[in-house]
Amino acid sequence: MSEKSVEEKLYSDDNLDVSTFKCKNCGGEAVFDPKTQKMKCLYCGSSFDIDNSTVIKERDLSELIDGGDVWDETEVYQCKSCGAKEILSNQEVSVKCSFCGTSNIVKTEELPGLKPQGITPFKIPKEQANQIAVKWAKQKLYAPRSFKKSVKAEALHGIYNPVFTFDALTKSSYNGTLGKNYTRYRFINGKRVAQTETRYFNINGFQDVTFDDLLVQASSKIPTGIIKDIEPFPTKVALEYRTEYLRGYPASTYDKSGSDCWNECKNIMDSTIERQILKRYDYDVKVRLAVNTTYLNEQYKYVLVPVYVGHYNYKKKLYNFYINGFNGKIGGKTPVSAVKVTFTVFIILALVAGVIAAIMLL
Ligand SMILES: [Zn+2]
Ligand SMILES: [Zn+2]
Repeated sequence: MSEKSVEEKLYSDDNLDVSTFKCKNCGGEAVFDPKTQKMKCLYCGSSFDIDNSTVIKERDLSELIDGGDVWDETEVYQCKSCGAKEILSNQEVSVKCSFCGTSNIVKTEELPGLKPQGITPFKIPKEQANQIAVKWAKQKLYAPRSFKKSVKAEALHGIYNPVFTFDALTKSSYNGTLGKNYTRYRFINGKRVAQTETRYFNINGFQDVTFDDLLVQASSKIPTGIIKDIEPFPTKVALEYRTEYLRGYPASTYDKSGSDCWNECKNIMDSTIERQILKRYDYDVKVRLAVNTTYLNEQYKYVLVPVYVGHYNYKKKLYNFYINGFNGKIGGKTPVSAVKVTFTVFIILALVAGVIAAIMLL
């Protein structure tokens, strides 16, 4: 009874040995499979469960200043072609750069830094991400045809991107001066003339705002604007970080410290608070607004979020586009074909000329 049949063994759900990541049934390499959220053997297809029962909780902001655990089971590699730095789990052998696709990757002596607390694993398989990219590229009217043809699964790489999320309750007091425009009628040389004037008034009061899981990008490799475009990432249900998720997917190094990210986050919070205050008033001109904010219950999470990166070289320039590895949202710049733009301009000019000629004839 205890002896399992071959078939049972093949699709065994027993946990994999995390020190080797070798398939128990054939000795092959097992990697993370987004479709099943399990480890899958690249050779025989056996799959193995990952313990994903723990959703992480926020930590107190004071712990961020003190540091955290060292990420010792990983190493930092650098791409000699585009300079991108990637963190790989120790056992990884051959990889291509996620940003430019070359294999010109060397190991560095750099330390990978802090170990992530949580992760939101890839949910969308590469083939599906590729279909999204192909559809998106087709809709880009001015992109060169060679770009559209270049969008292939091989040119798409998944990478985990480090982010901090912050929670805080803010209490602000404020005072300021706003102005409201109105129309005043005057008689000038016997004529009634409308003039716009501004009536100024002082404001003051209190505003509380609660922030939950505000995301700040810790790596500058992917532009912040792009991350905003492809948000949201399900950081609220981020799982406890496990090396298994990095099998087959590298992570980007971070170049902003936790405190830098917190300062950036406070700026985002401050502008939100200001917007909320101003929303309370009917005004046209902001003359002055002074806000004094206290931040309470500040908490953070340091999480890896999944992104697919596509790359394309056009006229010696590298173009990247990005797909959210959880929900499939896509963003990024495509090259622009000068020929296509010129052609469109000519067509428009021809149409305008045609319309003018028709009007003149009539
Ligand atoms: Zn196997
Ligand atoms: Zn590269």
